[in-house]
Amino acid sequence: MGNVAIHPAVDAGVKKGDPNFGGGTLHCRCKSDQVVMRIESNVAHNHICGCTRCWKPAGAAFAMIAVVPRDKVQVTQHAERLQVVDPNATILRHACKECGVHMYGRIENRDHPFYGLDFVHVELSNDTGWEEPRFAAFVSSVIEGGGARSEQMDSVRARLNELGLPPYDALNPPLMDAIATHIAKRNGILQ
Ligand SMILES: [Zn+2]
Ligand SMILES: [Zn+2]
Repeated sequence: MGNVAIHPAVDAGVKKGDPNFGGGTLHCRCKSDQVVMRIESNVAHNHICGCTRCWKPAGAAFAMIAVVPRDKVQVTQHAERLQVVDPNATILRHACKECGVHMYGRIENRDHPFYGLDFVHVELSNDTGWEEPRFAAFVSSVIEGGGARSEQMDSVRARLNELGLPPYDALNPPLMDAIATHIAKRNGILQ
């Protein structure tokens, strides 16, 4: 019996990043005239995501996605190839029109708990040292995306635990707490 495929970056085991890593370059998957993006820091909160909106490589049930301060992100080549996937979404995902890869997701609503952070896929980089994924978010949503059937979910969650990626059906507790704290402050519940 083979393992349940999660994502190519973790299927052979999660490889730890380098805590001193200072950033690198991401490329889209076009054969030529690639969109190139520079990130001037390591990423944070890297995780595996089962939602239906994150970009996934072909055949993967999950995406891998992390955040980085938006002022550390700069498209250095072929920005003209980027277009926003859904202008009405909270996270504006800037994708290459040719190959479909999402280069970065950005939140323009200043009231949003994650305003100031961009969402990026470090598998688009040849540089090594990026923070490794540490949990799995929106795991139940892989059913909606067609990545697994409900009767397979016990094995999916078991495999995620085995890989050291605790599965959650929302974000992980620290991020859910950060969102709730932001809302409580906005509503005057917390100072
Ligand atoms: Zn491309
Ligand atoms: Zn997602």
